[in-house]
Amino acid sequence: MDMIAEKFDAIVIGAGMSGNAAAYTMASHGLKVLQFERGEYPGSKNVQGAIMYANMLEKIIPDFRDDAPLERHLVEQRLWVMDDTSHTGMHYRSEDFNEAKPNRYTIIRAQFDKWFSRKVRAAGATVLCETTVTELVRDAKDKVVGVRTDRAGGAIFADVVILAEGVSGLLGTRAGLREMPKPQSVALAVKEMHFLPEDVIEQRFGLKGGEGCVIEAVGTISRGMAGLGFLYTNKESISLGIGCLVSDFGATMQSPYALLDALKDHPSIRPLIAGSEVKEYAAHLIPEGGYKAIPQLFGDGWVVVGDAAQLNNAVHREGSNLAMTSGRIAAEAIVQVKRRNGPMTKQNLVLYKTMLNKSFVVKDLKKYKDMPALLHTNSRNFFTTYPQLMSQAAQNFMRVDGTPKIEKEKATAAAMIKARSRWGLVSDAVRLALAWR
Ligand SMILES: Cc1cc2nc3c(=O)[nH]c(=O)nc-3n(C[C@H](O)[C@H](O)[C@H](O)COP(=O)(O)OP(=O)(O)OC[C@H]3O[C@@H](n4cnc5c(N)ncnc54)[C@H](O)[C@@H]3O)c2cc1C
Repeated sequence: MDMIAEKFDAIVIGAGMSGNAAAYTMASHGLKVLQFERGEYPGSKNVQGAIMYANMLEKIIPDFRDDAPLERHLVEQRLWVMDDTSHTGMHYRSEDFNEAKPNRYTIIRAQFDKWFSRKVRAAGATVLCETTVTELVRDAKDKVVGVRTDRAGGAIFADVVILAEGVSGLLGTRAGLREMPKPQSVALAVKEMHFLPEDVIEQRFGLKGGEGCVIEAVGTISRGMAGLGFLYTNKESISLGIGCLVSDFGATMQSPYALLDALKDHPSIRPLIAGSEVKEYAAHLIPEGGYKAIPQLFGDGWVVVGDAAQLNNAVHREGSNLAMTSGRIAAEAIVQVKRRNGPMTKQNLVLYKTMLNKSFVVKDLKKYKDMPALLHTNSRNFFTTYPQLMSQAAQNFMRVDGTPKIEKEKATAAAMIKARSRWGLVSDAVRLALAWR
């Protein structure tokens, strides 16, 4: 293909969730789309837990269940608050999740992204892997008009460039479209895949016929840092990982690998992965700055989507759905501008932001706009002190040792006041409630 001579309607940088959603949507509306992926194949560089939310994919590919590589549909979600020897849990499991079109699935990104990319090609887009976009090309008026890659052959031109390059966003940063994400706005997560026979997984988690269970955990496992552990069941493997803010890793000099080793050795986790074979290991960043970290989303000749735009809901551990939705909405905005023969200027591409503001993506991030700062500045209280107090209270309540219940309650209250003071407890509750509103 003579890439230099050909001009495209749109160039998409990255073949992750957001890039594929954007490329597929534009190509299926008849736009001439060129997509670049630096990995050997789409998904080869991508890491996710991973829960995939069906509703957002259905809006792009309604019949995706026919052939997408899905692992398990989720019927149970557990939230654990852990100290070093115990966990206090809240579980939700429902037969309602065994529906004809399940709502959430576990997936393995290396397989899922390959499938998504096949759909993108089938819709008519040209996808070039093992190609890194190295630079955005601008015209005399500073409008982005194309890209340069690490392939020989000069610049490639398009009416609009979609930056779907993921959380690091090096290209956008280098081009001055956004700032480098701050260390307190990004988490570093490490993850392993533990392989076990299907029936062993189903027995250990009480599952049958494709059902899945996920566990998300906070507490002393993050050693006072703002962080989260996770365990997701796939067909024949378990994804186990933990992530904490990069700024906290920097301040405490803790090693992510040591945290993961300790998590694996925790008495609540160890039996769940016993006898497994670890075959894959990965580390990746997650944008966690929320609403206040969202950069400029569009300009003359460009839009930014997904993790590159910091569109990630850390409170609900949702990222791929925000990525797919922002990619789809950006594409739909571009299709609308194209249909009325409008130039891809900042004035026209503002449509993307207007549409995104009306979606759950921005509404959810706005709702939790104060949460990242609250958790970051109070990580020791929320991730160590309270989990320890919760565990002590639960054990005190459950242990039957002849102590009158009234004394047990007084001891629990005294321990809480000693750890945080009356004022501290009230102020933590109020700040949490305000950030949650
Ligand atoms: C450990 C972990 C667990 C997670 N768990 C969940 C979960 O359970 N559920 C959920 O919804 N979300 C989860 N997320 C978040 C989710 O993975 C992201 O929100 C999602 O992948 C973002 O998609 P994206 O397309 O914006 O970026 P990515 O998926 O990161 O894709 C970016 C792509 O761009 C390519 N690229 C980058 N630069 C260039 C370049 N210059 N030229 C060409 N190609 C380039 C990359 O190779 C990559 O393929 C998790 C993330 C992590 C790290």
